[in-house]
Amino acid sequence: MSAQHRPVALVSGGSRGIGRAVVHRLAEDGYDVAFCYHSRPEAAEETAEIARKSGARVLARQADVSDPAAARAFVAAAEEELGPVDAVIGCAGIIRDKPLVLMAQDEWQSVVDVNLGGTYNICRAVAFSMMKRRSGCVVTLSSVAGVYGNAGQTNYAATKAGIIGFTRSLAKELGGRGIRANVVAPGFISTDMTAGLPEEKTRGMLDRIALGRFGEAEEVADLVSFLVSDRAAYITGQVFQIDGGIAL
Ligand code: NAD
Repeated sequence: MSAQHRPVALVSGGSRGIGRAVVHRLAEDGYDVAFCYHSRPEAAEETAEIARKSGARVLARQADVSDPAAARAFVAAAEEELGPVDAVIGCAGIIRDKPLVLMAQDEWQSVVDVNLGGTYNICRAVAFSMMKRRSGCVVTLSSVAGVYGNAGQTNYAATKAGIIGFTRSLAKELGGRGIRANVVAPGFISTDMTAGLPEEKTRGMLDRIALGRFGEAEEVADLVSFLVSDRAAYITGQVFQIDGGIAL
């Protein structure tokens, strides 16, 4: 694949965890990659450096996906520097876990704004260009919490269920233009997001996972890599749980 013809992937939340693994995997797959992140520029630079070793052109940019103007500016910078976006992967997400009766308004609102609002902001910013080119691919990150619910995560689960409705609607809306949209719904994956879980909760979770371990970010990235590839050309509007058998 020549440098001029590398397809372009845009990843939100690419500095750490699942997003970082997706950036690396897609760079290895032959994509040029633009990713945004919220904080920790040193983590973002580390992600970018590793991806560049695969020969990818990489744009790393601080942008809060919950801010529509910042999301638009990030997408515009990516298109300007790397070219039109072929695949968009929405990995940016946060948790603010609390039982509902203790959940403050801002703990509800911030999770809605980042997880659901951010998915809208990023997809909204790339969709028109994909429609014009009659090709493109969207992968959003939900969670098993969005499928089954999870005590202490009414805010998070609501956004992750919303992402499923959003993505399935997008698949119907844009399928006629050759654009596919699918959801990846991970179970427990070893990242910073799950590192802070109390030990007793972690042990309880492991008992429920058929494969007896947490997943790795790279395993989620492998699924994303498949979904954005031509091998998944007839797959759209689907929710793929990658959870080690947590729901069996
Ligand atoms: P993480 O905390 O390790 O990384 C989150 C990433 O999102 C970082 O790059 C961070 O900079 C970025 N981010 C956070 N808020 C942002 C904002 N406002 N604007 C832009 N970027 C922002 O998380 P992770 O575990 O890698 O999770 C990635 C996605 O997968 C999330 O959507 C999460 O909900 C989902 N998920 C994770 C798990 C898990 O077990 N780790 C399970 C199910 C779903």
